[in-house]
Amino acid sequence: MIRRSMTAMQKELSRALNRGQLSLCYQPKVDLRCGVVTGNEALLRWNHPKWGTVSPNEFIPVAEQVGLEVPIGEWVLQTACLQNKRWQDQGHPPMSVSVNLSARQFAQPDLFEKIEAVLQETGLDPRYLDLEITESMMMDVDRSIDTLQKLKTIGVSISMDDFGKGYSSLAYLKRFPIDTLKIDRSFVQECMSDIQDATIVKTIISMARNLNLHVIAEGVEHPGHLMFLQQNLCDQAQGYLFSRPLPAEELECRFPEIPQV
Ligand code: C2E
Ligand code: CA
Ligand code: CA
Ligand code: CA
Repeated sequence: MIRRSMTAMQKELSRALNRGQLSLCYQPKVDLRCGVVTGNEALLRWNHPKWGTVSPNEFIPVAEQVGLEVPIGEWVLQTACLQNKRWQDQGHPPMSVSVNLSARQFAQPDLFEKIEAVLQETGLDPRYLDLEITESMMMDVDRSIDTLQKLKTIGVSISMDDFGKGYSSLAYLKRFPIDTLKIDRSFVQECMSDIQDATIVKTIISMARNLNLHVIAEGVEHPGHLMFLQQNLCDQAQGYLFSRPLPAEELECRFPEIPQV
């Protein structure tokens, strides 16, 4: 393994965007009733010429330290919307694209205007954009609700990522205008071996159903996970069992044929 110092990472990351070293992979979200792909989550990749692929879990904290979270986040949003629009223009059945927001991006006072501008520029219908946020981002509660409400008004949907991992989840659920709960991978992965995790997954699914929210399980790796989720009426799933996150060109090869007219 190559050792990289924090300062080296900071320096290299500030050039990564301009040098075209950042890219997006996409991971399908599958509807468990009909098996159809309903959307794709955009996941950031850093391909460094010497270090190879650096994990976002490693470089996103570095981006925070050097204040690059917002510009990188804006690049992700722009690129993901553009790609999704391109797929639609090519005639593929419309799917949504999910974009992860960083805490600092979510705290930007002009976030709504920026998102609106990206949708306008790329021509993507807002109904096909989904934003993934986490509970820990909801520091300024009133402003967060206001931003989310404005986004919903134009048709953008909101998913609560890593659900179950944070605190005060239930109070937030009542106040925030969200569409989807994403059950954190850690509960899903143990749902067949750990009775407590199984109970947590079942409880989140039934709570979501009763609150009229969509629910999606992440980290589905095993056919047993899938069976468990289907038995407990989970709406959607995402994970290596269906597909790893793939570059756009590789994912395209797996789309259904475009009907010839
Ligand atoms: P996340 O949003 O919870 O994304 C899911 C992570 O689980 C991804 O890791 C994905 O590759 C991985 N994963 C998907 N299916 C499976 C599975 O079946 N098994 C296992 N073990 N893992 C699975 P990735 O791509 O390394 O991203 C890690 C985290 O980095 C993300 O967690 C997210 O918090 C962050 N991240 C990634 N892209 C972006 C981005 O564009 N912006 C921001 N702010 N954060 C991002
Ligand atoms: Ca996510
Ligand atoms: Ca997640
Ligand atoms: Ca997670």
